[in-house]
Amino acid sequence: MAPFLNLLRSRIWTLTAGIALTLAVLLFAGPKAIWWLLGLGLVCAIAERLLTPPESRASLPAQRPQNLSVLPPLTQLLLEELPMPVLLLDEDQRVLFVNQWMRALLGPGQERKHVSAVLRNPEVLAAVATAAGGGQANVPFTVPVPIERHFQAYATRIHVDPPVTALLLHDLTAIRRSEQMRADFIANASHELRTPLAAVSGFIDTLRGHAKEDQTAREQFLDIMSIEASRMRRLIDDLLSLTRIEMNEHVPPEGRIALGDLVREVAAALAPLAKPDHIAIEISADAELPQILGERDELSQLFQNLIHNAIKYGRENGHVWISLGQTPEGQVFATVRDDGEGIAPTAIPRLTERFYRVDVKRSREKGGTGLGLAIVKHIINRHHGKLQVESRLGEGSSFTVLLPPAPPENAEKTEAIPAVT
Ligand code: ADP
Repeated sequence: MAPFLNLLRSRIWTLTAGIALTLAVLLFAGPKAIWWLLGLGLVCAIAERLLTPPESRASLPAQRPQNLSVLPPLTQLLLEELPMPVLLLDEDQRVLFVNQWMRALLGPGQERKHVSAVLRNPEVLAAVATAAGGGQANVPFTVPVPIERHFQAYATRIHVDPPVTALLLHDLTAIRRSEQMRADFIANASHELRTPLAAVSGFIDTLRGHAKEDQTAREQFLDIMSIEASRMRRLIDDLLSLTRIEMNEHVPPEGRIALGDLVREVAAALAPLAKPDHIAIEISADAELPQILGERDELSQLFQNLIHNAIKYGRENGHVWISLGQTPEGQVFATVRDDGEGIAPTAIPRLTERFYRVDVKRSREKGGTGLGLAIVKHIINRHHGKLQVESRLGEGSSFTVLLPPAPPENAEKTEAIPAVT
């Protein structure tokens, strides 16, 4: 219906259609039918008047035209470059100017449209009305689709001649998201700590109560309490690591590291953990591997997490293969592969989220905190590297870390490479 009404409102179309209809009626129905036609024309004219909103009528070029000449060119340039969406309205509440950020938000071709046709949010329209009346307004609002976005709208009247209403939007989406993430993180961390804490408190009560004199139960409960206390310690250690790594994420690493040696050391330190399940760890490395720029402790932690995961989620009597080399593009790679349970394709994109586990029960049984791969991701970011995960359910997984090679030792210090996320 709306396109038809728009067509009706278009005067050129109405005129052309009218002439065509008149000729058709004269040709086929004879001169008498011209009275019917005139009646129909009258009805159409009244309908067009009723269907056209008053603000659209006010916009016709014959009405008071207002243009950007009220603003000096430098102001216009500044507004165009201002890194926030800006919209200026003339006295008839029609769009006089939109800068590039507002164009990106509303789409092109908004000039001369009435504000009500451009912005739908009632709070923003009320703010604009307040500003047009000489006041100022500052209102928060949310655009729910296609992706939820949060803004603060500031509307004010600018006293040039003739006056202009300005609407500025402050995009709060990133701030809101990080607030939400922080709140979720605190909620998750508290929940993770509460579970072992509840177990320890429960056993303390039991030991004070009916198990007081039961030597066997006491030994058993103390063992469980020790496991739960270790779980809490690991969780706190991982939380502190994650915070420290995040804080330094923007600082380029400086040490020169021979990755092959470092990975061998880490694998040797973890070998006792592979023993109970008879998992064999095999390492192969290119002899001519270039050094990388890195933070030794962080890289050790990165490979500890990957190799430990390969052991934890590996198969009894299975293998962990670690291979190091250089890609054709010159990146240094280290792949940790296992022949364990594998990971479903839908879970792979979520692996580096904090506290994400494919199987919570299994991760807990294996002493996991759900933070290992989040730590891996942040260490890789700091080292301007990349993580690639490949997996097949029931066959195993491979985690590949790609890192840029260090520049030659005598090369001049260059600018930091932009972070790859
Ligand atoms: P966790 O402490 O639970 O091991 P991580 O952040 O290290 O936490 O890993 C997140 C989840 O990813 C794990 O809980 C596990 O479900 C899955 N995962 C990680 N590595 C592997 C692997 N090599 N094989 C199978 N699943 C894995």
